[in-house]
Amino acid sequence: MTHPIAQRTTSEWQQLDAAHHIHPFSDMGALNRLGSRVITRAQGVYLWDSDGNKIIDGMAGLWCVNVGYGRQELADAAYRQMLELPYYNTFFKTTHPPIIELSKLLSEIAPPGFEHFFYCNSGSEGNDTTLRVVYQYWAAMGKPGKKYVISRKNGYHGSTMAGATLGGMDYMHEQMPSKVEHIVHINQPYWFGEGGTLTPEAFGRQCAAELEQKILELGADNVAAFIGEPFQGAGGVIFPPESYWPEIQRICRQYDVLLCADEVIGGFGRTGEWFAHQHFGFEPDTMTLAKGLTSGYIPMGAVAIHKRIAQPLIDCGDFNHGLTYSGHPVAAAVAMANLRILRDGGVVAQVKTDTGPYFQQSLRQALADNPLVGEIAGQGLVAGMQLTADKASRKRFANGGEIGLKCRDYCFKNNLIMRATGDRMLLSPPLVMTRSEIDELVDKAKHCLALTAKDLGMM
Ligand code: PMP
Repeated sequence: MTHPIAQRTTSEWQQLDAAHHIHPFSDMGALNRLGSRVITRAQGVYLWDSDGNKIIDGMAGLWCVNVGYGRQELADAAYRQMLELPYYNTFFKTTHPPIIELSKLLSEIAPPGFEHFFYCNSGSEGNDTTLRVVYQYWAAMGKPGKKYVISRKNGYHGSTMAGATLGGMDYMHEQMPSKVEHIVHINQPYWFGEGGTLTPEAFGRQCAAELEQKILELGADNVAAFIGEPFQGAGGVIFPPESYWPEIQRICRQYDVLLCADEVIGGFGRTGEWFAHQHFGFEPDTMTLAKGLTSGYIPMGAVAIHKRIAQPLIDCGDFNHGLTYSGHPVAAAVAMANLRILRDGGVVAQVKTDTGPYFQQSLRQALADNPLVGEIAGQGLVAGMQLTADKASRKRFANGGEIGLKCRDYCFKNNLIMRATGDRMLLSPPLVMTRSEIDELVDKAKHCLALTAKDLGMM
């Protein structure tokens, strides 16, 4: 079989890329002057670039390649499904076996009560869908006045208009002259940066109390839902204090406000639980899913709807929402192959009992002597490392983002993918990573963080 993609030199690819391709979240002028890194293949937890460098992927792509690269089972599932039924819609009184089987499998994997699933192509579309579900639910319940959705500053919910409005990233809001209406934000539960002199527990309760204040300010009859990532991913792998989620749940229930968990990063085993809200011990009404649903092999997102929300929706007539590719059969077949590896291959269980605790412990041991690392947040195979000017007083750098980028440059040079978000360094490797691969990942992270600390005269 001839290769469908022309083989070229790195500089040819870079020139063509600069000539024709606009990258997401990039300063294209600067990138085109520098030239993009060209990734050409991957296997397991490793990537190779067009110069032959072997790179360890500490980010599972963009937090999504949970089963690692090069899984034959997923390729076979796509191939077979493409020949059998590559596409059909599920709009007009029609369905197909892959989406039926996937929905059944998801209902087995999801916590009790999550028996219904609506499909889309991405996390952003999933959160758009979540808003539609929430509004339709309240209309069905005879409370159409419940319109406001409360989310958090520095939360990330995607890049569509609704996703970006829900998110609390100022730099995204600045590029949006108009936003989706009825979305308001409260502060994030980021103790290291914003907790002041409070204990983490007291700060967690204070942040949750902001939700209650906002509901009272808007009037409970006007508030439809609260949405949050169980732990903030793109915002810096921020783990809220333990007191936070139980209080949020109590407040949502007290004021009849739906609790929507954005599980796009946390879902499908990242923390060692199937879904991150299970780690934090709360019970959402909806879950937004994407990324690990197909391990990124093919785009797919979904909204899992608890039966207490789904039933009124089912009973209330037309739901006027859908996408050409809602329930795409090839994506569904790939998702099933992926979920079977995660479940029947014991991958999620292994993260919980073995590789997750090993990774967390190794990282803490390796970085204990580095004064630049002020906090390590994480569980399972996800971690956020706070860069700090002074550990004891939790003093942050005035130009923290620059220091994060400095560290990331060292990672580039050392063939490690570790992400920088402002002054936090992030790791979220494939869930199939072995102990020896974790050793390599942690060694490289330690080395790059030490080089950064030395640059700053701290080591
Ligand atoms: N929600 C969360 C929590 C995310 O992390 C992301 C993507 N990083 C999204 C939603 C958006 O997903 P997508 O990029 O697939 O639209």
